[in-house]
Amino acid sequence: MHLVFIGAHPDDETSSSGTIAKYTANGHEATIVMTTRGGRGHWEIPSEELERIRTKEMESAAKILGAEVIFLDYKDADVPAGDALKEELVDVVRNLKPDIVLTFHPMVWRDDHKRVGQAATEACFKACLPLLETRYLAHRPVPDIYFFGSPMVPVEKDVYIDVSEYMDVKMESFAQHRSQWVKWDIDEDDSTRPLEEIRARMLHRARQYGLESGVEYAEAFMSQYGRKRALDFFPTVR
Ligand SMILES: [Zn+2]
Repeated sequence: MHLVFIGAHPDDETSSSGTIAKYTANGHEATIVMTTRGGRGHWEIPSEELERIRTKEMESAAKILGAEVIFLDYKDADVPAGDALKEELVDVVRNLKPDIVLTFHPMVWRDDHKRVGQAATEACFKACLPLLETRYLAHRPVPDIYFFGSPMVPVEKDVYIDVSEYMDVKMESFAQHRSQWVKWDIDEDDSTRPLEEIRARMLHRARQYGLESGVEYAEAFMSQYGRKRALDFFPTVR
């Protein structure tokens, strides 16, 4: 089985990193597709340098999760709303042939996230149209899509993945995104404090989802077809 995560910025995968780690640890394949290199996510580092830094950070985070990573090179905060991204994602889907796609819920806040979620969802369908000609041949419809994020209208999470055994990996892979958590204006000695604060929030959220699903720590998704189908396509789902 092949799980494909489609996000906008390096570190977006943190929402699902325990699931990705669990998936690869169980012998499956995972690919992280990032539509940008996050070149606008810093107060001080110039954009091109930041893109280089965040590319490396993403690569080491993905390595820890046992996943491949692909960048599409759109500009951070400028992911287009039109058909270009959709067409490119059709080719990504046709090329990678995922069994499961994880992406942003199309109604989340922030244009980049929303546009990626919308385009990925549409591309998962369009990829199977044989008369739609792109660089790659049509592929069967993606069996299942799972959404993460917080939609602007309430949508219930209905698929929980037990990641209790993968919390260390989740934390370690997030820690690779150093440009996103180091505070440059505080004492060197104290530079890991922001990471500890973020870790505490990540633990709290995973514990919350764990409580909702009867396990210690979990990640939660909104499914296209509901939990029963999730059991077919998420072989490690609990
Ligand atoms: Zn993001």
